[in-house]
Amino acid sequence: MQVNKALTIAGSDSGGGAGIQSDLKTFQELNVYGMSAVTAVTAQNTRGVHGIYPVTAEGVTSQLEAIGADLRPDAVKTGMLFNKEIIEAAAGAIKNFGWNNLVVDPVMVAKGGSILLEEDAAAALKEWLIPLAKVITPNVPEAEVLTGMKIDSAEKRKKAAEILCGIGADITVIKGGHWNESDLCSDLVYDGQEFYELDGKRVATKNTHGTGCTFSAAITAELAIGKTPKEALHTAKQFIQAAVEYGIEAGSGHGPTNHWA
Ligand code: PLP
Repeated sequence: MQVNKALTIAGSDSGGGAGIQSDLKTFQELNVYGMSAVTAVTAQNTRGVHGIYPVTAEGVTSQLEAIGADLRPDAVKTGMLFNKEIIEAAAGAIKNFGWNNLVVDPVMVAKGGSILLEEDAAAALKEWLIPLAKVITPNVPEAEVLTGMKIDSAEKRKKAAEILCGIGADITVIKGGHWNESDLCSDLVYDGQEFYELDGKRVATKNTHGTGCTFSAAITAELAIGKTPKEALHTAKQFIQAAVEYGIEAGSGHGPTNHWA
């Protein structure tokens, strides 16, 4: 049986709600075969991150070379990359193997404030990875770091999206979760030509752990099965809206979003 395949290059969340675990669950839910290269192990639960243990750049390259020698992903996503050496390793393999349909989720900080990307690594994301991206999915704080501008108006959100496409992403999605817009939670999309919004409703819930990972994994899965970016973004938005609405009461902190909602 032929199946479409997606690869996640990201960190492990021992609590199972974000990172590699959320990505693989999302791929499975969307009927895509999932593969993973682990960039860092986090000791984590719904209350927060207890420890971070990065994999060496050599270890990341070795995982990617093993995959590339045998399996060809139809789409790839990156999540937590932690440092510039790992970013370089990931970008190098993606380029060398000619993997297409790259979704870059520029993960920087966990909800509780733990640093998931070292401060000097944002420049490496811009130099090596974003130019390879079909889609980049920053939240507002991440877009601010990447563009160096404060985003405090709708105009500035558009300007930031233009800058990120100028760095080399085909499509920029600036997510609405951190954007105060009454009861809406709409994401702004810019594809280099037109702006449009992915409409969503803000849900009153604490169970939002892994929201960004799940959304970008859903886009990746849809690209892997051959959907156009626009179709992939709309399906992923519906998927994450339901996953937040039906978030799971697990643990006593931020419970995970629900991958089979
Ligand atoms: N842990 C890992 C490994 C992640 O990749 C991420 C997000 O991308 C998080 C934690 C943070 O998830 P959240 O901010 O939803 O708690």
